[in-house]
Amino acid sequence: MKHYDYLIVGAGLFGSVFAHEMTKKGASCLVIEKRNHVGGNIYTEDIEGINVHKYGAHIFHTSDKEVWDYVNTLAEFNHYINSPVAVYKNELYNLPFNMNTFSKLWGIRTPQEAKDIIAAQIADLNIGEPQNLEEQALSLVGRDVYEKLVKGYTEKQWGRDCKELPSFIIKRLPLRFIYDNNYFNDPYQGIPKGGYTNLIIKLLEGSDVLLNTDYFAFRQEHPGVADKTVYTGPLDAYFDYRLGILQYRTVRFETEVLPTDNYQGNAVVNYTEREVPYTRIIEHKHFEFGTQPSTVISREYPEEWKPGMEPYYPINDEENESLAAQYRALAEAEPDTIFGGRLGTYRYYDMDKVIRLALDTVKEM
Ligand SMILES: Cc1cc2nc3c(=O)[nH]c(=O)nc-3n(C[C@H](O)[C@H](O)[C@H](O)COP(=O)(O)OP(=O)(O)OC[C@H]3O[C@@H](n4cnc5c(N)ncnc54)[C@H](O)[C@@H]3O)c2cc1C
Repeated sequence: MKHYDYLIVGAGLFGSVFAHEMTKKGASCLVIEKRNHVGGNIYTEDIEGINVHKYGAHIFHTSDKEVWDYVNTLAEFNHYINSPVAVYKNELYNLPFNMNTFSKLWGIRTPQEAKDIIAAQIADLNIGEPQNLEEQALSLVGRDVYEKLVKGYTEKQWGRDCKELPSFIIKRLPLRFIYDNNYFNDPYQGIPKGGYTNLIIKLLEGSDVLLNTDYFAFRQEHPGVADKTVYTGPLDAYFDYRLGILQYRTVRFETEVLPTDNYQGNAVVNYTEREVPYTRIIEHKHFEFGTQPSTVISREYPEEWKPGMEPYYPINDEENESLAAQYRALAEAEPDTIFGGRLGTYRYYDMDKVIRLALDTVKEM
């Protein structure tokens, strides 16, 4: 096998940006990916002409102008604005919590009326130092918003009662006293026209890519294939789990093609009552204003992660953080391996942050 400057493990966003930047500088890169496709979790799959976000809905949003300019050189972004709708027992509410939400909840019109109701509800509860997530959320938004829009959703996300969850999980629950349903505060937002996979393919131009290739078998067979390794797989797996297993939350997606052109009228609909077993339904075509005759929806079921399942969200409690810190110390001592991306660092990052990290890593080198 040819010798490379870099062996990049994982054809996700981090690995692909790294490969792109290094290739531009004249370095040779081999990207290996254990899945049968590139893109990592931002992979979009064409089903009935619709770009389906196979590993969960991905909306690009950023305040980082340089990253925004960067992605716009790779793909044209549309003007999608994320404006989720919440369903609670057949009542519909706009998210994030804003004047449309409050007006629907209480039949009021002005910001002052909304502020007065929330303040009165919080005062009535008389909570001192919040002892759990329920008390924390109640003391931030009052009873109505909590019970209809926060409680059930959060309990499904974590698989536990809000009273059993620590208060630190929710630091803020932003309330917006204007009629604005735009979920994100960032100035730049959109979805790449034609899906994320094309953007990744563009990033990987000039690199050699091997799919269906697991690093751990590959490194046995080709120990000296590159001068340096960039590793974006799970941090604990690299060290053969020698200090223990890092935990995650995962999500199971049930995806269905439906013979209708428009199922729910919005890309993202949250189900906030606990009795409905899924947290959200995503209707993928609405990310790109699709006009196809059929539609594809995905129901999302948060689940406890077990080895072998897709690791999605790192658990940022003390036990996992302390284990991750020990693994990170081992990682720093590896002279020829760079650990990157969300799995390689055991940190949740949005896409823009992952791009920023990859660009900065290349700059530092
Ligand atoms: C459910 C969900 C929804 C999200 N929604 C958004 C959103 O709306 N907006 C946003 O900005 N961000 C979102 N994100 C974050 C986004 O997914 C990440 O920022 C991004 O995917 C991270 O890229 P990465 O390259 O670090 O990791 P990944 O995409 O996970 O790539 C790592 C790659 O390494 C491969 N790999 C692992 N182990 C090995 C091995 N041993 N050998 C070979 N290959 C290996 C994996 O198969 C994978 O392809 C979301 C994340 C999740 C979990």
